[in-house]
Amino acid sequence: MTRGPERLVLLGHPLGHSLSPRFQNAALAAAKIPLRYEAMDVDPAAFEDVVRALRAQRAAGNVTIPFKERMRDACDALTPLARRVGAVNTFWIEDDDCLVGDNTDVGGFDAAVLGLLDERPRDLVIGVLGAGGAAAAVLAAVETWPGCSAHVFNRTPERARLLCERFSSVAQPVDDVGVIAGAQLVVNATSIGLHDDGYPLDPRLIAPGVPVVDLVYRPGETAWVRAVRARGHRACDGLPMLVEQGALAFERWFGVAADRRVMWESLST
Ligand code: NAP
Repeated sequence: MTRGPERLVLLGHPLGHSLSPRFQNAALAAAKIPLRYEAMDVDPAAFEDVVRALRAQRAAGNVTIPFKERMRDACDALTPLARRVGAVNTFWIEDDDCLVGDNTDVGGFDAAVLGLLDERPRDLVIGVLGAGGAAAAVLAAVETWPGCSAHVFNRTPERARLLCERFSSVAQPVDDVGVIAGAQLVVNATSIGLHDDGYPLDPRLIAPGVPVVDLVYRPGETAWVRAVRARGHRACDGLPMLVEQGALAFERWFGVAADRRVMWESLST
């Protein structure tokens, strides 16, 4: 039988003020699991050494920018979703020494959209801004939505082209941001708005009534989410996705349900 993790960590650089320790520690306390979830700001030059040491300690955890692709390469086994996205945000040790990588960003995004729309997306054209790892997770979710497809716009068009090649049954690159504005669900998967009040797309261009998801989160929501909501759009920032990817990771590590209510409560105190 596989033993549970003996240490729980978040690996990233720079980590800034991550919310994950707050809600993961709340979920651990609620489940009476005697572990602490620790944020580890890892020097990129030392990443593989750190993973090696964590493996010996039977650690599990999450991975964030800029290590999701390097963690994919460090794993012995990947879930089909991690392979599809090409990035690992959740890992654990199985059996004696098998480092397994998964991607719960996809499920986190799926749940955030479900919460916003109140129904599973169907027959929608989704406009995606950005072509990095987060956009890949978005497309992996779109792939599972019946009748849905995506247009992808990116500052560096070549990156959008390469990403869409990997998801060619549902995704198409576009070089006119106006195409994104005309979609039936608009998603920001760029990092615009993370450190400032920049908009990834002028809210005035977005067709009336179109729901908007920003994967970026900031205290008090992003300026873009506030602006599109002021224009009457249903909108959410990246917090619902963040909490749900964390809840799904918790369930992978421990095989028990994560208390989502407690996780959300920990963020409001
Ligand atoms: P990434 O791989 O570094 O990609 C960043 C993307 O943003 C690229 O498409 C990049 O375009 C674009 N970009 C950055 N600065 C830009 C600018 N000034 N103007 C136009 N485009 C710009 O990062 P990622 O992993 O995809 O993450 C993207 C964002 O999603 C991050 O802010 C992260 O916080 C958020 N995220 C949230 C969650 C969640 O749980 N809520 C999960 C994952 C990611 P180029 O290709 O042209 O450089």
